[in-house]
Amino acid sequence: MQRESNLSVFQQDATYSVYYIYVGSSQHITPETIHNYISRIHPNFHFNPTYENNNSINFLERVIIRNQFPLPINIYRKPTTRDTTINFLSNHPTEHKTAAYRYLINRMLSLPLTEERRQTEWETIQTIAQNNNFPNTNIARLKAEIQHKAHTRTTKDEHRKWATFTHHSRKVRKLTNFFKHTNINIVFKSTNTIQQSIKPKNPQKIPDYNNSGVYKLTCKTCNMSYIGQTSRDMTQRYREHVRYIRNNDPQSAYAQHILRNQHEYRTITDTMTLLKPIHKTSLLISYEQLFIQTYQYNGTLITEHNRGEQNPLFQLAIDTGLTSQIFHNK
Ligand SMILES: [Zn+2]
Repeated sequence: MQRESNLSVFQQDATYSVYYIYVGSSQHITPETIHNYISRIHPNFHFNPTYENNNSINFLERVIIRNQFPLPINIYRKPTTRDTTINFLSNHPTEHKTAAYRYLINRMLSLPLTEERRQTEWETIQTIAQNNNFPNTNIARLKAEIQHKAHTRTTKDEHRKWATFTHHSRKVRKLTNFFKHTNINIVFKSTNTIQQSIKPKNPQKIPDYNNSGVYKLTCKTCNMSYIGQTSRDMTQRYREHVRYIRNNDPQSAYAQHILRNQHEYRTITDTMTLLKPIHKTSLLISYEQLFIQTYQYNGTLITEHNRGEQNPLFQLAIDTGLTSQIFHNK
């Protein structure tokens, strides 16, 4: 591991002053003394002095200016800064899109800048925002919001829980708004980052029938479906359904349907479809209910099926078309 010191050196005639950022005091010392001292601590420590230019020096991302005390500072941007943030027009949650600006505005407001420098920084932030398609009003509102928050104390509720939602589109807000007055905080994850786009698709895809998850069994006579879930693989579950039918045992609603109506079932490939591969057992029941509700809504569920309790959140997902993005196979 390579370590670097963060000492900044100011040239003052023939002597050098070292500014320890955490103390703020100075000692008269030469670069050689510092170098010797640092190399004695550990041979891997390197000493890279940065010399001031026009009475100012870049320290971390600040510019420290030596013309008065306490040392005035300004915000430093590398000459190579590209000023690119998540574009306002991209399909990302607002929280992600504004995160960079939140950081910039917070920094602008919290650093001890002169009014003039603060104003210049504010103009820079607005330019960056414009270049990334943000409306000016949006950024101004964000600034006002941050300023307002800084003045009002927020009481933190330690009992708050966090839940992650995938941000497919803005429609997902219709679901998350339900949690507004609960102690569940929502965070979004996006599916359209560059990293996700260039990642090679899993080349070793598990064959459908070796998966666990939610499946449907279709009746070959009336084309209606049975929805089930299994934490084992689908082949085993298919064999069980077939055994119920052969033994005249109406244990599953599918066996009941086939036996009662003398309808037809066929081979696993003709009859069984994996709707959603699921490897987390705790999610099986929820997804099963979501599919049952969807098939019932579309009128394609066998009448023998146990309907379960209607879930209003699932109904909203169905109504807004969110389910089409969740389903693996239709
Ligand atoms: Zn049937």
